[in-house]
Amino acid sequence: MTELLFRDDAYVRSCETRVIAADTRGIRLDRTVFYPLGGGQPGDIGVLGLASGQTIAIVDTVKGDGPDEVIHVPAPGLELPAIGTELTAEIDWERRYRLMRMHTCLHLLCSIVPGAVTGGQVSDGKGRLDFDVPGASLDKEAIAARLNALIAEGDSVGPRWITDQELAAAPELVRTMSVKPPSGTGRVRLIEIAGIDLQPCGGTHIRNVAEIGPMTVTKIENKGKQNRRVNLAFAE
Ligand SMILES: [Zn+2]
Repeated sequence: MTELLFRDDAYVRSCETRVIAADTRGIRLDRTVFYPLGGGQPGDIGVLGLASGQTIAIVDTVKGDGPDEVIHVPAPGLELPAIGTELTAEIDWERRYRLMRMHTCLHLLCSIVPGAVTGGQVSDGKGRLDFDVPGASLDKEAIAARLNALIAEGDSVGPRWITDQELAAAPELVRTMSVKPPSGTGRVRLIEIAGIDLQPCGGTHIRNVAEIGPMTVTKIENKGKQNRRVNLAFAE
């Protein structure tokens, strides 16, 4: 089992850790700051630094078979560290921070557009959500204006934990049909943007929506009868 430091504090960039397994799939550590691909957010990239000064480039991070299992995927051809090796794990913070800003912005988008979310993807510098809304009712400029107004309000973003039973009793909290909330451990983490959005989410978020910065709605695509894809990008 790996201690997931990003879960309690998404701003931690590096940690001291130890190798607990290394095989053809990748390297597992006893604690990590690397977020694994999931919930529409890409896995982190970064480096593992050995005491010798040697570094191992990590080109992707994915989930393993267990609930809190994280596999750090090294660049091809590198020698794997031995079990027990102590090292420093450090993410590419600039990239992760852009992903956190975009991910949190998709929560705001979710609160603006009516209709269930049927899919979504956070990428470096851009993001999108698919909504089940009929007709051509979504206005690109109106969504962008509302989004930037919410960002300018500067509301705080934070976790709130509830039990699986409390979530089961409040199914309206689950906005995203394509992403199952992280559950099964007895409690579920909700992400709350005060007065704007509250939903289960296992991703990484910024602390205040003002950190997102100005956004543009690049395009709204028609992806089927009741499926509208809203694409976002940083305005600067
Ligand atoms: Zn989230």
